[in-house]
Amino acid sequence: MDRVLILHYHEIWLKGGNKNYFLSRLIAAVKRALEGLPASNLRFVSDRLVLEPQDEAAIPAMLERLKRVFGLAYIALARAVPAELEAMSRVARELMEAANPQTFAVRAKIAAHDFDLNSMQLERALGQAILDHLRAQGSKVRVRLNGPQVTCRVEVVAGQALLYTERVEGAGGLPAVTGGRLVVLLSGGFDSGVAAFKMMRRGAHLSFVHFFSNPSESRGSSRPVVEEMLRVLTPYQFTSRLYLIPFEPVQRLVVAGARESLRVLLYRRLMARMAREIAGAERALGLVTGDSVSQVASQTLHNLAAIDHGLGVPMYRPLAGDDKTEIVRLARQIGTYQISCEPFEDCCPRFMPRAPAIFSNPAELAEAESALDIEALVTLGLENALVRDFKFEAGAVSEREVIPHRYQKLLARRRAPAQPAPPSAVSAKL
Ligand code: ATP
Ligand code: MG
Repeated sequence: MDRVLILHYHEIWLKGGNKNYFLSRLIAAVKRALEGLPASNLRFVSDRLVLEPQDEAAIPAMLERLKRVFGLAYIALARAVPAELEAMSRVARELMEAANPQTFAVRAKIAAHDFDLNSMQLERALGQAILDHLRAQGSKVRVRLNGPQVTCRVEVVAGQALLYTERVEGAGGLPAVTGGRLVVLLSGGFDSGVAAFKMMRRGAHLSFVHFFSNPSESRGSSRPVVEEMLRVLTPYQFTSRLYLIPFEPVQRLVVAGARESLRVLLYRRLMARMAREIAGAERALGLVTGDSVSQVASQTLHNLAAIDHGLGVPMYRPLAGDDKTEIVRLARQIGTYQISCEPFEDCCPRFMPRAPAIFSNPAELAEAESALDIEALVTLGLENALVRDFKFEAGAVSEREVIPHRYQKLLARRRAPAQPAPPSAVSAKL
């Protein structure tokens, strides 16, 4: 078969001395994504990746999987021919005859040192050949350099020319698992799934935490929604861990002990505190949420500042400046949109305030928290967590329940009675 897949990377170009590290991670990700599919001879050719599908029928599946590999800018299925004008011209004519456009352009990139023509000369020669061929068949096709209906692309690499008329956009960003770990607060709604995607695309490896309560009869539980979302998100980073935390017992105690208007903010701080503990166990460097500034009352700048105050962990809000329409567009693209459309309840609406505070501040929240046993609430949530691991292998996501060792140690530490301060600390205070 003369078909090859060309995988172009983009941002890795910006990397200086670390470029080889990123490229090796990219290769590993491509191999892992294609596990079980008949592709061979993956290699670098003049600063792009090229591989050979062994079975034409598997090409759509390969493209589908490659679209989820971060670090790839675009992917093209090309015909490979010797880098000779006659062979190129024949394939270009065939490709354009199949496309049958009204307007077209030829774009050439020459990455071989020993090729005789420059890119403009090659574009002209192939353009003329295509034009003559299609016109001879009765077409009224014209060349249009700006915004042509079809572009015939030619890449001349060492000893070969690769030609194609279509390419699919890649996921962009940086290869998976090149940037340290983060913990995402995943609600099952549109926003936090998209926030997760954006941080994964920057190379972060994510663990997920979801807080759920018992749903009312009319709406479903959020747990299957979030688990489904993990099945969609995991192929991008290959493995994921999900912590499921029953939140209703915690909510009840907040409702009993705090002013109604501050409830949501106190929930958010409790969620962040629990996620921070999980981040410690997961060796993660920060938390991610789907907050978008001023989308709802809890997301005013005042309230976000009050929520974060004193928590001492970096909070990433990759959707802070996005409109809902942008978020929904990305959710559709990732494949989480339909999942979030299911009616579900994450945290019990009975415990939501009628009139939430819009401009809170750290002092007000600190006062409200002083009436609650915050550490006990955090432990109450954490000790009832269920943990599930998801793994993407050979095109399918498998999952299983786990009891992570470091999490067990965290729980043991939190349950242990507080140790008296060491004498040196006491005397230092005196
Ligand atoms: P989303 O669409 O992600 O639910 P939202 O716009 O509905 O976001 P909120 O419900 O106020 O906003 O939540 C803000 C953020 O807090 C969420 O994006 C998510 O990161 C986190 N969060 C909220 N509820 C939960 C939950 N039940 N479990 C985990 N994280 C949550
Ligand atoms: Mg929500």
